[in-house]
Amino acid sequence: MANLIKLEIVTPDRNLLSEDVEYVGAPGVSGEFGVLHNHTPFLTALSIGSLFYKKDGRKYFVFVSGGFTEVTPTKVTVLAEVAEKAEEINLERARKAKERAEQRLLQERERIDYIRAKAAMARAMQRMRAREEATSSGTVSM
Ligand code: ATP
Repeated sequence: MANLIKLEIVTPDRNLLSEDVEYVGAPGVSGEFGVLHNHTPFLTALSIGSLFYKKDGRKYFVFVSGGFTEVTPTKVTVLAEVAEKAEEINLERARKAKERAEQRLLQERERIDYIRAKAAMARAMQRMRAREEATSSGTVSM
């Protein structure tokens, strides 16, 4: 099919994904961005959130946290610090991580602890969100 873009997602541990897709939506540090074939080249840092791509009319979700994305007219390369496909996300683990982060935020100790706890909370919540979105779109079952 014409007008596809290659999406590659790589982490320090593994090559997570390499697919020809119709569209990529991703959480950049300055906001969500969307990429179709022939997009102007750019480079951005990634935030904590849920990336999605469309393939054969279906929407697939991937949790990403930190790293960079490079966009060229034919390719999106995601170099993420951490990434999981929605079906790999362990919801129970994310719920427990969220509870731990909530407890740490209540204690409000050093500022650095607060920032770390906020980031842990964001990772847990965005993992839960990625999994829920994938379930709603039917690309992952409960
Ligand atoms: P936790 O406290 O549960 O480890 P975390 O947010 O601190 O969560 P990360 O530092 O983001 O974890 O990731 C460490 C490793 O654990 C990565 O390989 C990541 O893919 C994996 N991981 C973390 N949480 C989950 C989860 N809920 N489901 C699947 N893999 C997870």
